[in-house]
Amino acid sequence: MRTHLCGELRAEHAGETVKLCGWVAHRREHGEHLAFVDLRDRSGVVQCVLDGSVEARSEWVLQVEGQVRRRPAGSENSDIPTGEVELAQCEVTVLSKAETPPFGLDERVAADEHARLRYRYVDLRRKRMQDNLRMRSRVLQALRESMLRQGFCEVETPLLWTPTPEGAREFAVPSRLRRGEFYVLPQSPQIAKQLLMVGGIDRYFQVARCLRDEDLRSDRQFEFTQLDIEASFVSASDVRDAVADAVLAAMRAALDDPGAGVPHDPGAGAPLAGIPGGIEVLSWHDAMDRYGSDKPDLRIGRPLADWTEVFARSEVRALSAPACKALCIPGGANLSRARLDALVDRAKALGAAGLAWFRVGERDPAGKAVLDSPLDKFLTDDQREAIVGEAAAAPGDLLLAVASEWRLACEVMGALRVETASLPDGTPAGSPAALRGGMPTAARAVTPGSLAYCWVVDFPLFDGVDEEGMPVPAHHPFTMPHPEDIERLSSDPASVRALAYDLVLNGWELGSGSIRVHDPDLQASIFDVLGISEQDAESRFGFLLRALRSGAPPHGGFAVGVDRFVALLAGEESIREVIAFPKTQSGGDPLTDAPKPLDARVLAELGLALRGEPGSGN
Ligand code: ASP
Repeated sequence: MRTHLCGELRAEHAGETVKLCGWVAHRREHGEHLAFVDLRDRSGVVQCVLDGSVEARSEWVLQVEGQVRRRPAGSENSDIPTGEVELAQCEVTVLSKAETPPFGLDERVAADEHARLRYRYVDLRRKRMQDNLRMRSRVLQALRESMLRQGFCEVETPLLWTPTPEGAREFAVPSRLRRGEFYVLPQSPQIAKQLLMVGGIDRYFQVARCLRDEDLRSDRQFEFTQLDIEASFVSASDVRDAVADAVLAAMRAALDDPGAGVPHDPGAGAPLAGIPGGIEVLSWHDAMDRYGSDKPDLRIGRPLADWTEVFARSEVRALSAPACKALCIPGGANLSRARLDALVDRAKALGAAGLAWFRVGERDPAGKAVLDSPLDKFLTDDQREAIVGEAAAAPGDLLLAVASEWRLACEVMGALRVETASLPDGTPAGSPAALRGGMPTAARAVTPGSLAYCWVVDFPLFDGVDEEGMPVPAHHPFTMPHPEDIERLSSDPASVRALAYDLVLNGWELGSGSIRVHDPDLQASIFDVLGISEQDAESRFGFLLRALRSGAPPHGGFAVGVDRFVALLAGEESIREVIAFPKTQSGGDPLTDAPKPLDARVLAELGLALRGEPGSGN
């Protein structure tokens, strides 16, 4: 139906007769007899000069045959790649008419998100969505190619599955043939991929859809995509190397080819550099201690300072709790008292008893450090010197400090570290606008230099206790305890580290994984520590324990969150911008109106009876 794509016509095509297909992006009348129509397809737009009598309205679908010619001097448009040419002597065939579009497709105008999702098929015609979905496709292709190159085998695992204890609420699917019984949609292929290892597959991957029936408070979706990986006879660093290869290949594929559908000339740009020196590895303890977060945003310098020793034996009660962590805000001494009070309130909201602040002044004539703070009168010269030194603070800086238990002090200062930082482009580093409630109209420009990766390793095996006082697995209960800590599994579970690792990008957890327990006795004792009785373990995971008893290789794996990864690469704040048909934050689909009530007949067939009105929550 066509000889060219709209967006690929250039001056060198002048004189050629071409056939194009696309949508009417824009129409301008020119006098009585002429109309300029911008025709749009996946590659971009080109101007067509039509006879004014030709009917062709916004979003109609046309086939246009015409001759490419250079635009008259002075009327070129340098904003678009086809701006030097136009199509003249056009023969137009209307392939499809369109109702008036629900919103304008101009990129610079923010359309209401509900309308965008309701008419997603129109919204997808925007360049931004086209670019994002094409980038997503390149990312998936590069991830797959890397996996295949590294000897991994793609295996599909069932969607109709059984509950697995990975911490999320699961979607249930009623069985028609066995009334009263349910399948569960996988929150991840975790157990299936471990069974593949027992089955000798050795290196598995899958671009896996995962489903979690979680509240969509933040930027989450019920269903999401992971690059899911598992490998046998590997160390944790082997797994990390395999993941890094795939992730960095995908980053290059995403950023090296921003063309929207136009075949890319690989010689056109210099290849992107990798990450010099590889991806930094931080222990969980160091990540918390230095950055106050298990997903540190390394775009922000400013590690936390440790004032614990400075105040360990001091009378300054506000600073002498078990740990004292501090943060230097360069140039922050001029923050108003109201801003400082707001920071104090924020620290309290995060759980701290208070927040100490010190404005760093010029040194006095005797060369001593000078601070402005309600606490200053309690400090000795040595303490002043020590805290300025520890935080590498200069005159004009602001120092903030919290004293409490180590983990709380780290977490509070870690949150303030992010919330008070600005990125080099001036945007706040803290929660993206999408999470604050706004939707930016344009994506941010992304370069490899604006992407800061790190590995966080040796997480605690457990993360606190549940309502019954039982330890909660920090990752999932199939995670291998650190060999040096295994003997404390029953006596001091809180101190046991795991062979678990996360990949972090710009303060987001891009994925997580671990070496797994392959010894059935150790797995049984972990279930025991978690308060899962032998009987319960047998009925829920008997199949896994039996598999582990049949000759299980040591194995480990990882899962990369593809939606978040693509959003970061595309400079988008919300993953909804990189998913073709996402749900809204209240879990609805404005396009199909799902979820919807089922016919009484279907319910009866499934053996289900409803309690309460359809559409009500619980
Ligand atoms: N199943 C884990 C998850 O979905 C990933 C892994 O441990 O490989 O987070």
